[in-house]
Amino acid sequence: MSDVYDVTIIGGGPAGLYSAFYSGLRGMKTKIIEVQPELGGKVRLYPEKIIWDVGGQPPISGEKFRSQLVDQGLRFSPTVLLNTKVTGFDKKEDGLFAITTDDREVQLSKTVIMAVGSGIITPQKLPLEGAERFELTNLHYTVQSLERFRGKRVLISGGGNAAVDWANELEPLAEQVYLTHRRDNLSGHEAEVERLLGSRVRCFFGASICELRSGTEAGRIDCVALEDGACTRWAELEVDEVIISHGYERDAGLIESAGLSLEVAGDGVIDGGADSSTHMPGVFAAGDILRHEGKLNLIAGAFHDAANAVNRAKQFIEPEAGRHAMVSSHNERFKEWNGKLKEAEQAGGI
Ligand SMILES: Cc1cc2nc3c(=O)[nH]c(=O)nc-3n(C[C@H](O)[C@H](O)[C@H](O)COP(=O)(O)OP(=O)(O)OC[C@H]3O[C@@H](n4cnc5c(N)ncnc54)[C@H](O)[C@@H]3O)c2cc1C
Repeated sequence: MSDVYDVTIIGGGPAGLYSAFYSGLRGMKTKIIEVQPELGGKVRLYPEKIIWDVGGQPPISGEKFRSQLVDQGLRFSPTVLLNTKVTGFDKKEDGLFAITTDDREVQLSKTVIMAVGSGIITPQKLPLEGAERFELTNLHYTVQSLERFRGKRVLISGGGNAAVDWANELEPLAEQVYLTHRRDNLSGHEAEVERLLGSRVRCFFGASICELRSGTEAGRIDCVALEDGACTRWAELEVDEVIISHGYERDAGLIESAGLSLEVAGDGVIDGGADSSTHMPGVFAAGDILRHEGKLNLIAGAFHDAANAVNRAKQFIEPEAGRHAMVSSHNERFKEWNGKLKEAEQAGGI
């Protein structure tokens, strides 16, 4: 028999992590279930980008911000299940939610916070047989570190925002950047497209990758063949690294299976209340998955939803509980940590 949690948070992105922090602050037994091997949600997709628009936070890289989010989210030691996909949940006769996961374990919880963002997103793979064998070497679906590409010949395949941004960011530091796109024009932000077209990036339009060749160094791509729309081989490029930016596949199975009772709109988001409530009593939502009047689709908006979702969950379990937690600066839960922080400050540690 599984332990019963007060709050189970589905999704470990900004909304889920802040919910976990706030839920701990309100003294609730909390669990996060995340399908990916790491916490951080979509912020994992832009580790090298600089985030400027989180209040009070100096400009910070996605990776550093993700790490801070995780530290804060784990502050009250919630239980965390990684690599675990939630496939559905049902309210049982005793009022508890039975949450099912792909490992067939059933998790029991008094409330649920849906913090699933845009569902499970995975990069569209290069549709070439055997391409996956290069994923451990020099075939990439995201740019984890710009430095890795310094002084190298890099081919980027794709024509959207991410492909255009990566090409522009790599252009000053790579030996040569090539960009290939199956269409005749790029669909990134206008100013970024203009910058790219005026740069040293060599573009191949109306072309796609038809072969990855590995010759000299086993297990690494060293040459890429391109073909045009009529499948005629067109160019062969010697490269050191290949980046594929063909968009993402979205698995919204959980949202669809819970659909009717959660009022899921045509575009796959939950139409809920500004207080993070949904149409299913005991189920709350936060972050990109939730829409309400005044919704802010930013990390700051995800935090706002998360605190609301936790406060409503608290009152769902204990109707007499306060609407809000005591602010952190006056909250006794931080007393011991505050003492330690002050000692470290006096010792010059922070
Ligand atoms: C390239 C890019 C740059 C951005 N830059 C900024 C910026 O500068 N400033 C800003 O404020 N915002 C920015 N954003 C938006 C911001 O990242 C999102 O608003 C934020 O990540 C939303 O957080 P979330 O927790 O709601 O969703 P997500 O971050 O999408 O997290 C949802 C999590 O739920 C998990 N999940 C989904 N389904 C399941 C399931 N069935 N079982 C288990 N786990 C599941 C997913 O794996 C994911 O980890 C950017 C977004 C992108 C794509």
